[in-house]
Amino acid sequence: MTVKAALQQALGAGLDRLDAELLLAFCLVKSRTWLFTWPEHQLDADQYHHFQRLMKRRSAGEPVAYLTGTREFWSLPIRVNASTLIPRPDTETLVEAVLARMPAKAAAVADLGTGSGAIALALAHERPQWRVTAIDREPEAIALARSNAEALGLTIRIEQGDWCEPLADNSQDAIVSNPPYIDAADPHLSEGDVRFEPRSALVAAEQGMEAIRRIAEQAPAVLRKSGWLFVEHGWRQGEAVRLLLSNSGYSDVETLSDLAGNDRITLGRRPAQ
Ligand code: GLN
Repeated sequence: MTVKAALQQALGAGLDRLDAELLLAFCLVKSRTWLFTWPEHQLDADQYHHFQRLMKRRSAGEPVAYLTGTREFWSLPIRVNASTLIPRPDTETLVEAVLARMPAKAAAVADLGTGSGAIALALAHERPQWRVTAIDREPEAIALARSNAEALGLTIRIEQGDWCEPLADNSQDAIVSNPPYIDAADPHLSEGDVRFEPRSALVAAEQGMEAIRRIAEQAPAVLRKSGWLFVEHGWRQGEAVRLLLSNSGYSDVETLSDLAGNDRITLGRRPAQ
């Protein structure tokens, strides 16, 4: 079977064009551009069977990123597996917000619940002069973040622990997090890619606010004077997060929108102590 025929077959089976191209390129160990250049290239038997298996799993709903084992975030190839969330383009807004507000000079920045390490690695890539710490509670996430840092040749400190716990008091210029924030009753959890992602990375108690509340409570102790907290949250949680930060004494509280124009990131500065 040719490249062109294989893609047609996948579209006929109901796959999205992009998904089909990503999976076929993965089976052939080539780029997507290569597929367009060599439409008449013949798949060998192994490649053909591999593609058939992946097509079937994709049709059953498995995320493409788990099938290929990588997802691009901030133009970096990030390895992913079923132990962590797949990095979302919306989370690039969080990286942008941090880069825009923090001085480019040396700074200490911690990413809480780092998962694959995507946020911490994007920051380390943009600001090699920063000391970036990536924290996660799950040993599988720690291992994955470490392997991503090594593969990308980026230096970050990786610590296992619960939110701010591994950080010394008064040590950070910014705390950044994309924590779990979905309510357990949200019907969105039974649709699409999220069905295959770990619940611990998605769901939080207190209408999805528990993790954000704990981070907001813990961050003032580990932040330096005027240090920033940046959190990602659900599109309907902007007001609740602003209120939480304001009531906890944070200043300069503000919500930013994601690519679709929805409330997605709220930030604030450490309360004066
Ligand atoms: N934004 C993701 C989603 O809605 C959830 C990310 C998270 O829980 N931190 O699928």
